Amino acid sequence: MTTALGPGATIGVLGGGQLGRMMAVTARQMGYRIVVLDPSPRCPTAQVSDGVVVGALDDQDAARHLARQVDVITLDTEHVPADLLAELETIVPVRPGASVLRTIQDRLVQKQFLDRIGLPQATWSEDIASIPRPSILKVRRAGYDGKGQVRLDAETELAPALAKLHGEPYVVEEVVAFTREISVVLARGLGGEIAIYPIAENMHRRHVLHTTRAPARMADDRRAHAEKIAVCIAEELGHVGVMAVEMFELADGRLLVNEIAPRTHNSGHYTYGACATSQFEQHVRAVCGLPLGDPRALTGAVMVNLIGDLWAAGPPPWHHVLARPEARLHLYGKDAPAPGRKMGHVVLLDDDTDRALTNAEAMISALARR
Ligand code: ADP
Ligand code: MG
Repeated sequence: MTTALGPGATIGVLGGGQLGRMMAVTARQMGYRIVVLDPSPRCPTAQVSDGVVVGALDDQDAARHLARQVDVITLDTEHVPADLLAELETIVPVRPGASVLRTIQDRLVQKQFLDRIGLPQATWSEDIASIPRPSILKVRRAGYDGKGQVRLDAETELAPALAKLHGEPYVVEEVVAFTREISVVLARGLGGEIAIYPIAENMHRRHVLHTTRAPARMADDRRAHAEKIAVCIAEELGHVGVMAVEMFELADGRLLVNEIAPRTHNSGHYTYGACATSQFEQHVRAVCGLPLGDPRALTGAVMVNLIGDLWAAGPPPWHHVLARPEARLHLYGKDAPAPGRKMGHVVLLDDDTDRALTNAEAMISALARR
């Protein structure tokens, strides 16, 4: 039996974005120390950490330097080279491990893995000609928030579409006429135990997550099916930590796996405030080998992302958020509010999630109107 790392231990985080930041806040509240590796000493995670190692995420010397000062390493992003993680594993435990990341971080390998374990996904190929249009090209590595994706409609010219991928290797998949997008966020502990959060219903705008509503309105049997798919993935991967599985729900009730994130997830932000244990505390518990916390929802919730466009004329008028007693504001401390960039989010705690969705849209419109 592996010994748990209790409070006082130091957690190393590769990548200093908002996911690392929210985990760091929770970890420090629980008495852990945090050291982060990121190219920027002012990144969102570094602002709330005990230490920062400045370096690129593929900088071996910087990563080794971090590994020597921590008791366990975890990740804010899946885009850290698996070979580097394998090397760090010789110094300190890395959770989730290099083998998990090797399967996930290349879309081709991830899709082959899903086929191998027999889980349903959109029809895909490496050969554009073999997938009827409309289809979507996705770069194999380093895509996020719809970046590195190009849609091919019947009339789209191939050469300019391909040029947008800058020669990066890609996969192509059919466009799925889904009725809904959902995600299952769960945690798998060091001993293989699993805790599953209430399923989230996700609405995207321009390929970026806009709102999440939880719990999803789903019949028990369909919910159980979605959970079974996600648990199967976590177990087959030997994952440790929080994981999210994005799925497309079809009109006939079938579920297709869209993609796997081996980390805390934007669609799980609602758990912070709405659930007995947030996804961030759960991730700390899993990677430190502690027992998992209770994932039970204490209330319904709607999460809405705050995108950089809202900053076009300076900081948004926050009173539209702060005047709402049910609203919790999270800002990530990013200093460059570019259009499309995730700057923060708001969680509306409300058992009536229809009402919360209406309120979320009204609030976002008011922030945009100023
Ligand atoms: P990422 O989240 O890494 O940017 P995704 O593959 O999840 O990449 O794509 C982002 C969003 O684009 C999805 O949540 C979905 O709304 C849309 N999308 C992606 N693939 C498809 C598809 N095959 N059919 C229909 N919509 C898709
Ligand atoms: Mg996605």
